Amino acid sequence: MLPEPLAALAAALAEEKKEAEVYVVGGALRDILLGREPHDYDLTTSLFPEEIMAVALRRGWAYHPTGIAFGTITVVVEGLAVEVTTLRREGRYLNGRRPAEVHLGGTLEEDLSRRDFTINAMALEWPSGVLRDPFQGQKDLKRRLIRAVGSPGDRFSEDGLRLVRALRLLSELEFELEGQTQVALSTRAHMIRYVAGERLYPELERLILGPGAAAGLTWLLQTGLLSLLIPEAVPLLTTPPDGTYHALHLWDHTMEVVRLTPSRPELRWAAFFHDIGKPYTREVDEEGNSHFPQHDAIGAQLVQTITQRLRFPSAKAERIRTLVARHMFTFDMGPRGMRRLYTQLGEEGLRDLLDLKMADMVGTGGLFVPQAYDAFLQFRERLEKTLAESTAFTVRDLKVTGHDVMNTLGIPPGPRVGETLEMLLNEVLEDPSLNSRPYLLRRLAELASGAKEPPSEDPPDDPHSRRDPH
Ligand code: ATP
Ligand code: MG
Repeated sequence: MLPEPLAALAAALAEEKKEAEVYVVGGALRDILLGREPHDYDLTTSLFPEEIMAVALRRGWAYHPTGIAFGTITVVVEGLAVEVTTLRREGRYLNGRRPAEVHLGGTLEEDLSRRDFTINAMALEWPSGVLRDPFQGQKDLKRRLIRAVGSPGDRFSEDGLRLVRALRLLSELEFELEGQTQVALSTRAHMIRYVAGERLYPELERLILGPGAAAGLTWLLQTGLLSLLIPEAVPLLTTPPDGTYHALHLWDHTMEVVRLTPSRPELRWAAFFHDIGKPYTREVDEEGNSHFPQHDAIGAQLVQTITQRLRFPSAKAERIRTLVARHMFTFDMGPRGMRRLYTQLGEEGLRDLLDLKMADMVGTGGLFVPQAYDAFLQFRERLEKTLAESTAFTVRDLKVTGHDVMNTLGIPPGPRVGETLEMLLNEVLEDPSLNSRPYLLRRLAELASGAKEPPSEDPPDDPHSRRDPH
């Protein structure tokens, strides 16, 4: 049941001292009881951090004093990283942040009582295999309930991160909220303000990746947490649908799109954010239909603000922004537009964009789905063919370099070098057969003698420059 290295570590800790206590705790125990594959393991023990380190040293296991002030040592046994924590007693909490102090050396019951939810507050005693479950976590596992340990209001006030952890667990496990915990989530939502972005972001991302992401997001909205974390998204709830393409209300449509997208981080975030610009761009025509001109561009701006505020890693933020910015692309795109899209998004990003498009179409609940589906399939086929034929996507793929530009044009390093390469790239994006060194050197020579004007930036056949009014 337990992986071999974990058992070896537990045994080594238990042997360290007479009457040493060792327990498997946390998410791993919860997942094992649910029949799910755990993804990380936590042990708690009566041993103190220096004793835990001594065990690791003697066995030749690597260890990291990850949170030594909180009594946590990560020990790596045969590639498995296990967090080993000394049994703790209640310390003081300051303003809903993590505890300002913890006292090492508590009893198991004391340690479990400071954990967040009953399903996370069980312990499997090593080596007896006895399950210690003072808060009836097993019962809640069976009922599929997230219930705070002790008084939910107090627990959320102690540490505001637990608010989002509750919904992260709800989404990952597809559980429900126990009644009191549910009420406390709303009354203590404001405690989220004290939680640092670095702690929040990983939990939010796990929430959005879970199979119950739509339920989790809707709880974020209903408890008022969303208006504190991502207020920009709240107006989705009160913005009516277009009347033409969409049968669903904007929030419902957004949830449908989240549900329909495969569980990949950038894609799921983009699904949540794709129409976030709509409430800010709504116009109503004479027939009473809504239009949202530029909602993709406005949405991308909003995404930038949100991802900065919530401390998303910057590469991820950039991809999400681009997906939102490009989600309105039309299927009449030409080869050059396709190659540009590839340059902007890369292979994985493009896959995300196609999955987003598909989910967006299916998630309208409207009339246009069958025709749009055919158009989508044809587009994808053309895209694959075009990309396979391509010889260059960025200036780095060109058969000439910045040195060639400087030598041929007789110019020093500077912005003009890059601009010239971009111009050559535009030609090659249009016609991949032009990416040959002799041809490009000839073009440079022509430019040097001023014989030929560079081609215009955007030929009129580029479908990007047109904008779908919806
Ligand atoms: P997973 O293994 O799926 O990440 P987890 O429940 O193990 O979920 P961790 O962040 O690894 O989550 O935390 C390990 C355990 O530590 C939890 O099960 C819980 O008992 C306790 N815990 C973690 N964060 C908190 C918190 N903010 N407040 C109280 N207890 C917490
Ligand atoms: Mg864990």
